[in-house]
Amino acid sequence: MALFRRSKYCPELRAVNPDPMPDGGCVDCIASGDTWVHLRYCTACGEIRCCDDSSNQHARKHARASGHPVIRSREQGENWAWCYPHQTGRELDPVA
Ligand SMILES: [Zn+2]
Ligand SMILES: [Zn+2]
Ligand SMILES: [Zn+2]
Repeated sequence: MALFRRSKYCPELRAVNPDPMPDGGCVDCIASGDTWVHLRYCTACGEIRCCDDSSNQHARKHARASGHPVIRSREQGENWAWCYPHQTGRELDPVA
């Protein structure tokens, strides 16, 4: 009988660090003069873009266009990450 070890998280989410994130708004909305609902932080390039509730969904578009898989919430009081390719997320430990 083969023993299957299944990690709770995909490799991308296991690799996410709860580093402090910069302040700012959606870089693409600011460039075009649009507004957003919530902000997401790309853990690959460190840029901030808007969430799926925002009309432009720049974070999702950026992930697809760039191949950067993981975003973190840039909202106050939220500390989670989401992997677009695997459609799965995790809570992150608070920064010590
Ligand atoms: Zn993943
Ligand atoms: Zn945006
Ligand atoms: Zn990125």
